[in-house]
Order: sequence, then C-alpha cells, then structure tokens
Amino acid sequence: MKVLVAVKRVIDYNVKPRIKMDGSGVDLANVKMSMNPFDEIAVEEAIRLREKGAATEIVAVSVGPAKAQETLRTALAMGADRAIHVVCEESVEPLAVAKLLKAIAEEEQPGLFILGKQAIDDDSNQVGQMLGALLGWPQGTFASKVEIAGDTVNVTREVDGGLETVALTGPAIVTTDLRLNEPRYASLPNIMKAKSKPMAQKTAADYGVDISPRIETLRVVEPAKRSAGIKVGSVDELVAKLKSMGVVA
Ligand code: AMP
Repeated sequence: MKVLVAVKRVIDYNVKPRIKMDGSGVDLANVKMSMNPFDEIAVEEAIRLREKGAATEIVAVSVGPAKAQETLRTALAMGADRAIHVVCEESVEPLAVAKLLKAIAEEEQPGLFILGKQAIDDDSNQVGQMLGALLGWPQGTFASKVEIAGDTVNVTREVDGGLETVALTGPAIVTTDLRLNEPRYASLPNIMKAKSKPMAQKTAADYGVDISPRIETLRVVEPAKRSAGIKVGSVDELVAKLKSMGVVA
C-alpha cells in the first residue's frame, strides 16, 4: 500500500510569534521554521506502517515556498521514499491546499493519506476533513492509534472523555493527534541519503487548481497581557482575598 503524507513548513513551536507592526499577520522575517509537529507524527506513523509491512512506499507532499524543500528533505531523511513539492510563494488557504492534495491523491492513488490534525501556525484544523470530503474518502481524525487489517484501517480517536475506534474502508484519510507516536530524529547518514532521493517540483497550475485567496485577514493582535500576581502570607489571607474578589463564597 502506498501512503501519502502531507507536511507543512511552519514557524517552529519553540518560537514566540511576533505580530507585524501593521497587525496584518505574524512576522516571519528571520524566524526559525520547522516541520509542523503533527506532520512529524504523520511521517513517523507512515514509516512504522512500512516497518510492520503494511506500507510499501511513502510519498511526502508539501505546498509552500521554495524553502518548503527543507521540510520535505527532513521527511525524506526520516524515511519517506520520495517527495512532491507544489511551489507556491504566497500563503495558500486550507481549501486550496485540500484541492491540491486531492489532485495529487488522484494521480498517486494511495491506500492511505496521513495528515496532521492541524498546522500550528494558523490552527485551522480543516485540510484533512476537506480532503476527505473532496475525495469522498472515509476519515479518522485525531488518531491516537492506527492499525491496518487488509483493506480496513482501524483508527482509535481521542474524543471528549474517552477513545472511539472507527473502521475505515480504504483508501482513507487519517489525521494525527499528539499521542499517536514519538517521531524519530533523522540520523546523519539518513540526512545525507535524503539529498539524493527524488523530489518532484510542481505548480498549482499543473493541477489546474485556483489558489487565489477567499479569506481576508482583518487584524491579528497579541493576546492580552496578564496582570501581575500578588503574594499572600497565609491560607487565611488567601481565602479572604478570594472571597473579596468573589472567586469563592
Ligand atoms: P490545517 O487544516 O491548516 O490546520 O492543517 C492540517 C494538516 O494539513 C497539516 O497538519 C498538514 O498535514 C496538512 N497541510 C496543511 N497545509 C499544508 C501545506 N501547505 N502543505 C502540506 N500539507 C499541509
């Protein structure tokens, strides 16, 4: 079974985002960028499926600027076999990404398409679900366990207050949650090997997809600053304070 994995280049999760002076978005100048953490989990899961003999080929796909190549090379160094880069210098909205991934899925005919549950830059949590709808494929979102049994993909999902297991008849979409696995680091020899793995360069026009924006960002603001705390000398003083603030009766 061929597995496609979607990987997005995003602001590194350790970086504290700065808002642009004009409030039009997050300032990405000279900021460390990395693979979206949920996508690292997606790549790791695909590799584990291959190690178990359930997957035969892993293709990493990214839509993004020239630098998204670095993210794809990371996926190749982790263990993906080849990559497809849809080069788009401007930012691409989730619906357009889903349409591009749909076109790639139709061309590649995978048994499974694994995505992150959300990209940590815009927190949309939309692409996997839109892709499932566009393709008409079943989806198991927020996966904490994935098992393949013949044509069936059993996905355990994290839902409010528990776990739900769904059986999907492939081809299917899975989106990863944090507890699915712990992604491996790429070893130096594998980083070297990744440089010679195939990477196809495409454009949105190659797939006939219109990526012009449909959403206008009106304003981006920093979260409100937290006011300073106070120190109390005793439990009695704490209780009195909480009562005076109306937090406890
Ligand atoms: P989102 O719906 O934007 O929060 O993204 C959910 C998932 O869709 C991500 O974790 C990625 O797996 C995939 N995805 C989103 N944007 C892109 C992109 N530009 N290129 C490749 N995959 C993407």
